[in-house]
Amino acid sequence: MFDARRQFVRLHKIVKNNLSRSHFEQATVIGSGPNGLAAAIELARGGCSVRVLEAEETIGGGTRSAELTLPGFVHDVCSAAHPLAVSSPFFRTLPLAAHGLEWIQPPVQLAHPFDDGTAILLERSVQKTCETLGRDAGAYRKLIQPLVDDWEYLAPELLRPLRLPRYPFKQARFGISALRSAQSLAKSVFASERTQGFFAGIASHSMLPLDQTATASFGLVLAVAGHAVGWVIPRGGSQKIADALSSYLHSLGGEIVTNLRVESIDGLLTDESAVLCDLTPSGLLKVAGHRLPEHYRRKLERYRNGDGAFKIDWALNAPIPWKSADCARAGTVHLGGTFKEVLASEAAPPAGRHAEKPFVLVTQPSLFDASRAPAGKHTAWAYCHVPNGSTFDMTTRIENQVERFAPGFRDCIIAKKVSPPAELQRHNANLVGGNISGGSSDIRQLFLRPTSRLYSTPTKGLFICSSSTPPGGGVHGMCGYFAARRVLGK
Ligand SMILES: Cc1cc2nc3c(=O)[nH]c(=O)nc-3n(C[C@H](O)[C@H](O)[C@H](O)COP(=O)(O)OP(=O)(O)OC[C@H]3O[C@@H](n4cnc5c(N)ncnc54)[C@H](O)[C@@H]3O)c2cc1C
Repeated sequence: MFDARRQFVRLHKIVKNNLSRSHFEQATVIGSGPNGLAAAIELARGGCSVRVLEAEETIGGGTRSAELTLPGFVHDVCSAAHPLAVSSPFFRTLPLAAHGLEWIQPPVQLAHPFDDGTAILLERSVQKTCETLGRDAGAYRKLIQPLVDDWEYLAPELLRPLRLPRYPFKQARFGISALRSAQSLAKSVFASERTQGFFAGIASHSMLPLDQTATASFGLVLAVAGHAVGWVIPRGGSQKIADALSSYLHSLGGEIVTNLRVESIDGLLTDESAVLCDLTPSGLLKVAGHRLPEHYRRKLERYRNGDGAFKIDWALNAPIPWKSADCARAGTVHLGGTFKEVLASEAAPPAGRHAEKPFVLVTQPSLFDASRAPAGKHTAWAYCHVPNGSTFDMTTRIENQVERFAPGFRDCIIAKKVSPPAELQRHNANLVGGNISGGSSDIRQLFLRPTSRLYSTPTKGLFICSSSTPPGGGVHGMCGYFAARRVLGK
């Protein structure tokens, strides 16, 4: 009698699941990065009972902030500037402002200074940006303005897995330039070394040598998003993104458990309960390798991690004393100087070398957000690219680059926290060898990551939802969203 009742309940669940097109009533998400939280939210909105398990003491993965140097100095542990978060079609549907998230627009999105004390400035206005580009103004406007005008259509198509173009003309216009290497696009479109260096600097977010196919896409996406929506920063630090996502998730009935490192999916994956891993392929192999078929395991083992990052956080007694005063109006500053230098710097890590003059990405959020540091004091963060797993100390080389464009910078430092690749990985197991993009984004892994199955695995109910799936690295939550849609059968 009891058994018949159980069978009936089970049958009822299956019918109900099929009617709602949802295959699972429960789900466990391993990892609370932006993709893990996005997946959990979409599942909760789809009627699933969802629980997030996070290894670290605090939630957020790559969107965390902490007093890394001194009390009162709030540093972004990973992400700092968020053009993709405000472009994200999924985040745009969430009431994140009502859950405490406030975006700040720095007056200038990005500055790229030169040795002569001048700088190219990426402003929201294409026209104002052109005013800093000299003879390349027309070429820049011709390349960028149509894409800015189309951003509303392009962003949802770019922040998703590849599919047949919905806007063939607009996407072709983007694709023709985007599929080129950053080096060839910069050289063919811009006449001056300055503009070429500026574009190469933005494309360096790809963490790839800039002569590789499709590296131009990174330069275009980030430049266009800078104009269309801005490289915004969250008031209070990137932790506020995770906090807003978690607050909304709780309002939907979701649960988050911290300080719980999942060692195995055994016991979590059942007929009723799916498991979504906000993990890299190596993380997935650790927790679920024994439940995956050999052929899929081998594919995950072949996944390439890509270069690492070497990061420094500074507590400062004054703003960075930039030679070019305009740099003090920018949320992000790119220190690479000339085109040749940027190319050389980005070619070094894949060849196992450390650039003498590394291309350095700096953010200075306390200039625009007083909550980041005690009155009159400041925070800044910087990183450069290094070979995966490098143990070489880049502190002096990074600080030399800042000093080069801001003489007197070293005198402003009160305290610093240096994070080589191993330290980054210690705080977040997903940063394998210091890689910050969930694995290399070269053309072979840009669209089909981690395998051609994308979010699904051959094991029923087991999914991967991290930035090792499309559309890849950055804070946008779209990997989590699409993985959750798969779980919901949508
Ligand atoms: C230095 C740095 C700077 C960056 N700057 C920017 C930026 O300015 N703008 C931007 O958009 N992006 C930036 N990024 C990239 C961005 O942070 C990532 O792309 C994004 O966080 C990826 O989200 P995710 O959810 O896929 O993974 P993650 O954010 O890495 O989250 C994974 C989570 O899983 C947890 N986890 C791992 N293993 C386990 C386990 N076994 N059990 C339980 N939990 C586990 C981890 O602790 C972590 O919380 C930066 C990254 C770094 C490191």
